[in-house]
Amino acid sequence: MITGKNYIGDKLSSDSSVSFKTFNPLLNVENNILFFEASDNEIEKSTKLANDAFKKFKQVPTSERSIFLNQISDELKLISDDIVKIYCSETGLSEARCLAELTRTINQLKSFAKLLLEGSFQEVSIDTSIPDRKPVQKPDLRRMLMPIGPVVVFGASNFPLAYSTAGGDTASALAAGCPVILKSHPMHAGTGELVAAAIIRAAKKTNMPNGVFSNLNSKGIEVGVKLVCNSYVKAVGFTGSLKGGRAIYDLASKRENPIPVFAEMGSVNPVLIFPNKLKKEYAELAEKYAKSITIGSGQFCTNPGIIVSFESENFSLFIDKLVEEIENISPSCMLHPNIHKSYNDGLENIKKNKNVAFLTKKDLKLNDNFPKHVISTVTAKKFIEDKNLQHEVFGPSSLLVRCEDKDEMLDVIESMDGQLTGTILAYENDEFLTQEIINALELKVGRIIFNGVPTGVEVCPSMTHGGPYPASTDSRFSAVGTNSIKRWLRPVSFQDFPQNFLPDELKNSNPLSIERSINGITTRNDDSDFKI
Ligand code: NAP
Repeated sequence: MITGKNYIGDKLSSDSSVSFKTFNPLLNVENNILFFEASDNEIEKSTKLANDAFKKFKQVPTSERSIFLNQISDELKLISDDIVKIYCSETGLSEARCLAELTRTINQLKSFAKLLLEGSFQEVSIDTSIPDRKPVQKPDLRRMLMPIGPVVVFGASNFPLAYSTAGGDTASALAAGCPVILKSHPMHAGTGELVAAAIIRAAKKTNMPNGVFSNLNSKGIEVGVKLVCNSYVKAVGFTGSLKGGRAIYDLASKRENPIPVFAEMGSVNPVLIFPNKLKKEYAELAEKYAKSITIGSGQFCTNPGIIVSFESENFSLFIDKLVEEIENISPSCMLHPNIHKSYNDGLENIKKNKNVAFLTKKDLKLNDNFPKHVISTVTAKKFIEDKNLQHEVFGPSSLLVRCEDKDEMLDVIESMDGQLTGTILAYENDEFLTQEIINALELKVGRIIFNGVPTGVEVCPSMTHGGPYPASTDSRFSAVGTNSIKRWLRPVSFQDFPQNFLPDELKNSNPLSIERSINGITTRNDDSDFKI
């Protein structure tokens, strides 16, 4: 049952009189359940509890944290029917999409559970002493990555499961040994509460300290602002808009003790199409891209928002075909009237530039919260002149940029801000595709794709989901895949420590049998490597 209350550790709580409801965009009506915003007292309690829990949670062996994560995924599976019902009513997304996202969420949790047993994420490095080194002896130094402390997680509206309550940020932080205080997204607060309850049940069943997870509701930005400024909080994971991510980053850096903010934000994901590819495959490419632009109503951070090619007859054929294809796809419901409004505002913003031509003209009678699919075009010169044209328009639209030649394509790439992805559509021996273009694109993105679409983010250790600012606030890290755990860990070195006081990971005997670097050699061995 959904109560509308906050979880302060394992206790349900509703101090505040500020309340709100979620919205069913398909029916265009408010849902019934009343949610209570977290009060100042509840924010303080949850962060203090997380701080207390941290001292115990960081000592919990990785094998037990692994059991905790697997238990969360089991609890989620058990309530999948209830999740589907509330998820669909709060988002307008389909049951199939919900189940796919739930499977991804469960697999993410399981992949971190597996990582915890394997141990290499702690990057253990041991350099043994050289007592007779001249002129001074070399000390014994042992380094490993340790959890940073309580983490606040903000989920995005467009992934109510995989980037929300038990999503990648939460899974990676719990795996790292960091308690999580979840700032629930107000658009899917009911889905959030169900998932939070599953995490709390898993924590109890696996004897995790109370406070390892809390779930706080909010109607506006105030709860999030207070959480970011709270002194018990040691890091923030954010997925959402550039505006929101930047505001939180600025807040965190102005604290008396600044903390890291790992914000994954919007992107326009440029796609470069090369002439030979267009000549042979313009129709197939148009079909493929019409689907990629409109999938999920275009509400993906990897949506291809900018498509760049050379002025040519084949590019014109591609454009005509893309317009035809996209107009033949039925629009689907957006997540919320506010998201629909932002989409229309974004298009109006582009329209202000008189050099942009809107090519999709079909006049459709659309239901409330259903967006028009839009293709527009502009020359490279005019695109470069107007920074506004680079802003993410979150929804099913794409701007086609027409270049005169290779140099102008390079200028377009160089004029762009950081991106999550960049895509190249070409043949391997295309005379127009030069290393210079690849190098220029690589400087701007976190993932560079050859002959594919940017939508669809594979979850595996080699995935980079992030990119130079403003795609994310720290391009050295990924928000997807097991490497995302590194965001919540910090290195600690122990110098000349006695064996009995060292963490198990650093002991000579290697009781956890994890992979370690000992004097520069990677090994899983024990004492035999130590000539002490
Ligand atoms: P959003 O409006 O930025 O909201 C995200 C969360 O941040 C919400 O909980 C929101 O709280 C909070 N927030 C926003 N502004 C804030 C501020 N100034 N201070 C404190 N908290 C603030 O984003 P959204 O509409 O939910 O999600 C869509 C966006 O996410 C798109 O731009 C999309 O590209 C991006 N996204 C990025 C990724 C990625 O991995 N890079 C993945 C998915 C989505 P309130 O709702 O209470 O205001």
